[in-house]
Amino acid sequence: MGLLRRDTPLKKIEKLKKRHNVRELRTYLTSHSTIDEELREAAALALATMDDAAAMTALASAVRQQNRNPGRDAGLKALPAARGPAVGEWAVNALRNPSQHGFGFDFPDDWVWSLALECAPERFIDMVEASLNEEPEREMRRMYVQRLTSLDGDRITEVLRAAARHKRADIREYALEGLAARGDAEAAEALSELRRAAKEARAAEAVRRAAEVRTSAAARICAACGRKVLTTEEFVAAAREVGFVVDPITGDATFTASGVVSGVGGLLDAEREGQRRYDEIEATRGYVCGACGRPHCTACLMKAPQHPETRGPRCPSCREGPHAILSS
Ligand SMILES: [Zn+2]
Ligand SMILES: [Zn+2]
Repeated sequence: MGLLRRDTPLKKIEKLKKRHNVRELRTYLTSHSTIDEELREAAALALATMDDAAAMTALASAVRQQNRNPGRDAGLKALPAARGPAVGEWAVNALRNPSQHGFGFDFPDDWVWSLALECAPERFIDMVEASLNEEPEREMRRMYVQRLTSLDGDRITEVLRAAARHKRADIREYALEGLAARGDAEAAEALSELRRAAKEARAAEAVRRAAEVRTSAAARICAACGRKVLTTEEFVAAAREVGFVVDPITGDATFTASGVVSGVGGLLDAEREGQRRYDEIEATRGYVCGACGRPHCTACLMKAPQHPETRGPRCPSCREGPHAILSS
């Protein structure tokens, strides 16, 4: 009689769901043996609709991007069906602690944020509020604040106001952005003030760094490739050593044969060798970025893409520029 009453696989999955058997459902979803895709999908859907934290962790690890997991497609298909208070709570916890919720070292995908915001908005707000006062600093906090702005309600405004007083400027900036988008004129003003101050600080830092490059030989290291860069004087002197005279105004280099050169062929060889060494020296000539104050070598600037506005090379460090000759 056992034989006659054997369940079909789909029926079995239904029963597993009723019994809350996450482990077996997960086995169906992620099995490496060839099983019907229909069964995988049924197992994924069962996990998504259980409103259960362990089931969500099983789904999350099945759909992780770098996983060549056989259950990935079925899992992704089932995710939109996930709903419920336990799912929301799970999503909030997954944002706080991704590695313990099936994400390994990955950053939670967009669907986790959506679940947290849709299924447990109050818990999400609690979490953001608590994270603002936490030590050590959590890098994800600014993302929390940024996502918070997509919600509505008085509590959001309150939390954003608190975040707008945070000691970290990036968190203040996101919070002020959110408040300004809600029509808070004062926040909009504070936001432009904060951005102006940040811009000034960047400019001052660039001037400081450029001065350091000019006065300290130790600072004359290409910020992109790490090789030593030459000032104009050093470059002119090095070029002279291999037979080139550089015009300081135009920058033109002319080869001047010196020493004993025998015949036309010997002169050509000397010029060819001089040119090769001159090219090497020229590649290490230094330039300083006007936007970030960092030094770069000619070779790195030649490789950089063109800046659409200055038409010169984009700074390899800050993507701005333009660069000026490292003069002394
Ligand atoms: Zn370089
Ligand atoms: Zn730069």
